[in-house]
Amino acid sequence: MTASHDQRPPESAYLNCIRCGLCLAVCPIYREYLTETASPRGRVALARKGLEGELVLSPNLFEQMYACFDCLACNEICPVGIRPADLALALRATQEAMHPARWKRPLFRGLIPHPGRLELATLPLRLYERLGLRRLAYALGLRRLLPARLRDLEAMLPCLPQRPLRQHIPEVVTPAALGFAGPDPTADEHAARENPAAGRRVGFFLGCAQNVLFAEESAAAVRVLARNGCTVITPAAVRCCGMPARGYGDVAAARDQARFNIALFEQAAVEVVVTDCATCGSTLREYGELLRDDPAWAARAAAFSRKVRDVSEFLVSLPLRKPTGRLDGRVTYHDPCHLRRGQGVWREPRHLLQLIDGLEFVELPEADWCCGSAGSQLITHYETSLRVLARKMENVAVTGAQIIASGCPGCQMQLNVGVRRHGLAIQVTHPIVLLDRAYEGS
Ligand code: SF4
Ligand code: SF4
Repeated sequence: MTASHDQRPPESAYLNCIRCGLCLAVCPIYREYLTETASPRGRVALARKGLEGELVLSPNLFEQMYACFDCLACNEICPVGIRPADLALALRATQEAMHPARWKRPLFRGLIPHPGRLELATLPLRLYERLGLRRLAYALGLRRLLPARLRDLEAMLPCLPQRPLRQHIPEVVTPAALGFAGPDPTADEHAARENPAAGRRVGFFLGCAQNVLFAEESAAAVRVLARNGCTVITPAAVRCCGMPARGYGDVAAARDQARFNIALFEQAAVEVVVTDCATCGSTLREYGELLRDDPAWAARAAAFSRKVRDVSEFLVSLPLRKPTGRLDGRVTYHDPCHLRRGQGVWREPRHLLQLIDGLEFVELPEADWCCGSAGSQLITHYETSLRVLARKMENVAVTGAQIIASGCPGCQMQLNVGVRRHGLAIQVTHPIVLLDRAYEGS
C-alpha cells in the first residue's frame, strides 16, 4: 500500500538531500548508535525510498520516524534546507492517515484536550504526594523494590501540587490584586519608552503539564509577570497546545486544538501570549504554519503565532525590576531543544538567572544537547532515552551545580530521573521559580 498524494509530505521535504552527513554530527541518537538508520540522513533516505515505492511503508520504517527525538538539531544544521525532524513528524502523520491507530483517538481527542478530564486522570498522582505515600515510599526504601523502569517513571514526577493551577488561579490577575505596584517608577525611562510592555494585558498559556504537575512554577510565572506591572489573563478553558497529538501523527486533532486556543485568546483581547513551557511555546508559534491552508483560520493563526513569547523572553523585554532578595548557590542551565532551536531563546533565561544576587551561574557543557526526554521517549524508547540522558548528567556533574534550571516540563522530568539515577544532590527547577523566590525574599 502506498501513500496517496494528500497523505504524503511534498517531494521538496526530502528530494534535495545531498547526503553530506553534517546532520549526523548533531544527532543525539546517531551519536549513541552510529548506525545510518538511526541518523537524520538515514531517516530522510528511508522516507524517500518509502514514498517513492522502493521500500514498503512498513511499521519498521515508521518506527524509525518515532525513534527521532524531534530535537531539531538536524533542521538547524542542514545546508540545503532539508528538515529531517519535520519530515519524521510528517511521516508519522502519513502513517496515521494510512492506518489510523485505534488507541490514539481516545487519548488525543477524548482525554488530552479536555483539562477537566486530564485533571481527574492525574488525581491519583497528586494523592500519592498529598497523602504522604510518596514520602513513605522513599523513607522505607520501597522504590528500590520496583523494576528499574517503573522506578524511573516514578522519578520523573516533580513535587506534585495539591491542586491543578486552573482550579484556583483567577482568570485575571492584576498587579494590585497581588499587592504589587504598577510598572516600576524607577525603571529606566528610555527602556520603558522602547519597551512599552509594562502595564499590558498579557495572556498566559497554561500548558497541561504545568497545570497538573508543575502548578507552582506557573503560579510563580504569573506572580513575576504581575510584579513587573502586567495584568495576566489565564483562560481557564485553555486546551492542550496540540503537540502530543501532532507528535503522534494526529494533525487534525492538533488543528482543532489550535483553532480553539486561538479563538479563546482572541476573546481575551491580549497583546501577547506568554508561556513558561518550551514545547507549548514552540507549538503555539507554529499555529500559523499548521493552519496555513485553512482560509478561515490562516490569518488569525498567523496573528496569534506572532504574539507568542516565552516567559523569559517577554520578561527580558520589559523594564524589569531587579529582585532585591538573595539566593545562595551554584546554578546551571539546560537548554530545552524547543526553546533554543524551536524559538531562538537561550540568552534570556541565563540573563534572568544572572539577575539574582548570590546565585553563581555556571555554563553547562553541551547545554543545548538533547536530554533524551522528547516528551515521552523515556516511556517509548527507554534505552535510548537513558543513554542520551547519561551524557547530559555527566556534563551536569562537572559543573558542581546545586541547582539545574530548565524552562520545559519534559526536560525537568527527564533531569529528575537523571539526578536520582546518578545520585546527584541537585535540585531541578524552572528559572522563573528562582526569580520568584528572589523577589519574595526582597
Ligand atoms: S539532511 Fe541535510 S545535513 Fe543531512 S545529509 Fe541531507 S543534506 Fe546533509
Ligand atoms: S531531530 Fe534530533 S533526534 Fe531527530 S533526527 Fe534530527 S538530530 Fe536526530
